[in-house]
Amino acid sequence: MEVAKDLVPGVDYPRTFQEVDEWFRSDAACREYIRRLRWPGGFICPHCGWTGEPWVTSRRLLHCRGCQGQTSLTAGTIFQDTRKPLRMWFMAMWYVTNQKNGVSALGLQRVLGLSSYETAWTWLHKLRRAMIRPGRDSLCGTVEVDETYVGAVEKGKRGRETETKAIVAVAAEENGKGVGRIRLRHIKDVSGASLLPFVQSAVVPGAVIHTDGWSGYSGLTAAGYKHEVTVVGANPGRSGSCGDATRPQHRNASQAMAARHSSGRRSTCASRLLP
Ligand SMILES: [Zn+2]
Repeated sequence: MEVAKDLVPGVDYPRTFQEVDEWFRSDAACREYIRRLRWPGGFICPHCGWTGEPWVTSRRLLHCRGCQGQTSLTAGTIFQDTRKPLRMWFMAMWYVTNQKNGVSALGLQRVLGLSSYETAWTWLHKLRRAMIRPGRDSLCGTVEVDETYVGAVEKGKRGRETETKAIVAVAAEENGKGVGRIRLRHIKDVSGASLLPFVQSAVVPGAVIHTDGWSGYSGLTAAGYKHEVTVVGANPGRSGSCGDATRPQHRNASQAMAARHSSGRRSTCASRLLP
């Protein structure tokens, strides 16, 4: 049995357990689903690049007609070398991704009817590792980047000048009118050499980065970001306030941080006091 014709792996995912049961009834159906995930445009031999329909050997290896090389469908996947039916793996995936309150190895063992707790534990950890996407922590979309100074007011210091305060770079994802995920880092100064690596570590390339007109952000476009600058007022930043009347729909990153850490000491807003 093959995956239904109108089913596109990578696009179509089962919505109910009944669909899991129907779609992945046999090992062959599971293998076909994986195969179309790996080669959506048809098989390409990883050894020689030949395209076309491979033979399937008795050991279920894909045999290339170009170079006679053989490829395992599951090599490099979490199913590699498994002795259990793929259908059982697919059910495990369904179970692990559909439990609101977390999954235990014991729960997985029970629901799959596995005789070994150790197998259930190994499967659960394999699945958990597979569910972690690289770069998952990076912010994306439109991200406001700003710096804020934490510490007492310093006499005779203005704007970005500081001797005793800690400078914290802030990146805040915009989420409608609110704020999404936030990344913070203590940086030694507000130069491009400090700010740019912070942005690169916190935000995916190509994202929209919103900043004020500070020169430390001038390298963002060259680094592959879409850089949007909002110059703060006609007399930039002398307002001395975190509130930013020129960005009515826009909570700035420092405010976002203050909101998230409202129980702690409120940061000063020197970054709005441009020198
Ligand atoms: Zn080949």
